Amino acid sequence: MLNTSTTAAIETLPAPPAPAVENGFASLGLIEPIVRAVREENYSTPTPIQGQAIPHLLQGRDLLGCAQTGTGKTAAFTLPILQRLTQQRRAAAPRTMRVLVLTPTRELASQIGESVRAYGRHLGLRHAVIFGGVGQRDQVQALSRGLDILIATPGRLLDLMNQGYAKLNGIEVFVLDEADRMLDMGFIHDVKRIIAAVPKQRQTLFFSATMPPDIARLADGILSDPVRVAVTPVASTAERIEQWVLHVERKDKPALLASVLKDPGIARALVFSRTKHGANKLILKLMKDGIRADAIHGNKSQNARERALEAFKSGRIRVLVATDIAARGIDIDGITHVINYDLPNVPETYVHRIGRTARAGASGVAISFCDREERAFLRDIERLIKKPVPVVENHPFKMNGHAPAEPRAHDGGQPAAHGQRRDGEHRGGQQRSGRGRQRGGGRRGRR
Ligand code: AMP
Repeated sequence: MLNTSTTAAIETLPAPPAPAVENGFASLGLIEPIVRAVREENYSTPTPIQGQAIPHLLQGRDLLGCAQTGTGKTAAFTLPILQRLTQQRRAAAPRTMRVLVLTPTRELASQIGESVRAYGRHLGLRHAVIFGGVGQRDQVQALSRGLDILIATPGRLLDLMNQGYAKLNGIEVFVLDEADRMLDMGFIHDVKRIIAAVPKQRQTLFFSATMPPDIARLADGILSDPVRVAVTPVASTAERIEQWVLHVERKDKPALLASVLKDPGIARALVFSRTKHGANKLILKLMKDGIRADAIHGNKSQNARERALEAFKSGRIRVLVATDIAARGIDIDGITHVINYDLPNVPETYVHRIGRTARAGASGVAISFCDREERAFLRDIERLIKKPVPVVENHPFKMNGHAPAEPRAHDGGQPAAHGQRRDGEHRGGQQRSGRGRQRGGGRRGRR
């Protein structure tokens, strides 16, 4: 509370700026209905990528964004696009769109669609989301009237273009999202064919979490004098997250997972499995142990994936098992723990995975199971994040007489992995909970 002298001092000063909650986005040059929508989403301050990108994008510059999901990049590109469409309003011709956002997965497309709806709720613009694996009738109908924004995955868009239902000749802004993932998923040729159909005169926004040479070349070819923004270099994401590794025989991993998940402090866990088959087997095991869980991966129907996601988001299940591709780009609030049931062989994937528990600046806990064959992966990961991952020595499936391949750091506060807490130990990895992102001001309480 202010005392009198402080109050007096304030009164002699010029009017203070409005609180950040009112002002953060307005000061980037965004118009009132957009600032209002963002405020209604409970965003108080722009994230670094938003702060760095939005003013340039409002001026029509191209952008090369080295950023992964979780940095706020969707709003970084969507808000200035909405502003441009609003300030230069015109009706798109039937089957055309003014803005195309190309993104690799259905989930990501849907999420961007939701963001466009939320941020644009006071603007009355027309947008649609199209992706494969579902009927095309509604998508064709949405396109037939002409759109302000189309969010699409490459395969279905090409299909609709080939059938004459989608025409790209009216595009003013082209956004390529998760370009490196497009490459991984084998979409790069589709992407190039789509790019060839977009008018050369346009604003282009290019996002990729990593910049392998193929992607850098693609960016070079389609961007014109871009502003470059790089946020959350992988190592720094990893710093905010409490990380632990448990050495375990492969055969003991299912039982170890069930045991770890007995800790009620694990309020919402995303479990990564390398294979779809592995994910299915895990679910059966968890259900047998009475743990409510579901899986998402490419073999599941769109409906089944959406159902699983919804159950996870709403808290009806507390464990979601996913493969990397299925989980990429999925935006779920309040993941308290990421569990690497299998360690990834690409170290950057580890960082992307664990970043799921540290969205928009929050911290979180990541627990990795490492069998003998995965030791080399662990070493690559530690090299990338530039620190050893502390080992949990005390767990019921500890490898017999097998010390870790390399000495590892301990801080004495390692977690008892599965409700078998050591005396005097209060705050270890799995015992922490409630590391969800603060949204709407509510931090989840710790146990
Ligand atoms: P994205 O990287 O676009 O997937 O965004 C990650 C998450 O951060 C989403 O759930 C957004 O709703 C949220 N978000 C985006 N911008 C902000 C912000 N300025 N403040 C708080 N949360 C944000």
